[in-house]
Amino acid sequence: MSIELIFNSTFGAFVLSSYLEVHQSGEFTFRPLHLGEESLQKDAANPNAIYCISIGSIGDLRLLEHLMYGLRKENICLNGYPKIIIGGPALVAINSRDLLKEYPEISYIIKGYAEESLLGILKHPPQQRILESTQAGVKREDCLVPALQWHPLRPVPISRGGNTCDWGRCRFCHHTGKGTKPVLSLTELCERIVSYYQSYGWRYFYIYDNYLKPDELIEILKQLDAAKIRPTLDIFGMRVVKDAVKLAKPLKRTNMVRSIGWGIEMYSQRMLNLYRKGIRIEDVLPVLEAAKEGGVKSTGYILTGLPGTMSEDYWQTYEFCCDHIGKDKVLAEIIVNWFLVNSNLKRRLKTPEIRIRPKKVYKVNRYFGNDNELMNVKTNFYDFDSWDHFSQKWQSREESFLLNEEVLRRLFRIKGVLYDHRAFFLEPSVWQKFWGNEYAQWIKGHVAAIPPVN
Ligand code: SF4
Repeated sequence: MSIELIFNSTFGAFVLSSYLEVHQSGEFTFRPLHLGEESLQKDAANPNAIYCISIGSIGDLRLLEHLMYGLRKENICLNGYPKIIIGGPALVAINSRDLLKEYPEISYIIKGYAEESLLGILKHPPQQRILESTQAGVKREDCLVPALQWHPLRPVPISRGGNTCDWGRCRFCHHTGKGTKPVLSLTELCERIVSYYQSYGWRYFYIYDNYLKPDELIEILKQLDAAKIRPTLDIFGMRVVKDAVKLAKPLKRTNMVRSIGWGIEMYSQRMLNLYRKGIRIEDVLPVLEAAKEGGVKSTGYILTGLPGTMSEDYWQTYEFCCDHIGKDKVLAEIIVNWFLVNSNLKRRLKTPEIRIRPKKVYKVNRYFGNDNELMNVKTNFYDFDSWDHFSQKWQSREESFLLNEEVLRRLFRIKGVLYDHRAFFLEPSVWQKFWGNEYAQWIKGHVAAIPPVN
């Protein structure tokens, strides 16, 4: 009897199920998770059923919580099945031991690329319940295996693998440090796109390397052009370097790139230097103009809450956004994030201008506005105070947020500026102070999650 893998619907689930299907075709059946009582009872009666839950967002955590609630209510899992296997990108932000403590019914937590680990678990269930795929010495050769159907209009996520970038110096970067090099060469990446295009009819691809260089993008376009295919590409992400102005012509000629996500971070040379972003402010507009000329929709990423940010840095960034977001402008939208610290970052931040004093780790359930009932699980991020050079005082994150409330409120109100308040890790009471009388209205209409690509 085949093993029934029950997934929540995410990119991760698709990649996993496709991989399993190719490697052990016919041994598994796949179906999406349903949380109704009847479905859960049916799963419980099937010793071959396995829940594979990929956690990519707060929405997925909620789903996990509902699943656990449903299972406990029905007294399911008492026999040790169905097995529950948790993976997904958001596990870098959550403390796995805490998650296991909160939900001892979970059979395994897999961190990192899960394909090989999942196959390993299915063949020889290990004793250890928290597994690091990289520790297992697994070489992830296949970034994606296109065996199963995919939504015809949604871009397929595809990457060279690895999680480091050639620049690798930004002081706020969570991706690099112990990063790994790409698994695929550019030619192999292109070969995959060609094969998915020709053999499976896929047309949309979302290339998510941490940092694609202009010459690399030109090379990808050249190879796809030579293969005589016309896929639509979304690119995440690129650094705004002067070199990128030369993209205009190939972008326009090939007409394959639909969107690019640019890491701008702050429109302030002082801050870009302080955080070693390697961007010159005078290159930002020419690069975005070149992308527009090439027919590309640009999304900019802004990082607020960086220790050492002064009011004028925010105002300059705000004015830049006012002038350049919108229809017929160089930027279609800006996604605003709020800086968070994990223990890997402490060394990177070491400089007399950035002084931080770590406090407690955040817990999921305290910071998510009206999601207060969420699980009592620690994240991997620290709250911290930072030294304010202007007032010569330590300042909490809440204080620095509220101190800059006027400019931030104006920034958030610009049409085309998107942010997910839950990623800010500010308690609901801080947001209440921030929005005042408008709070109730704001929370009702607030975007729940920001997709990387529309
Ligand atoms: S360019 Fe991006 S991926 Fe590379 S170090 Fe900077 S933030 Fe990290």
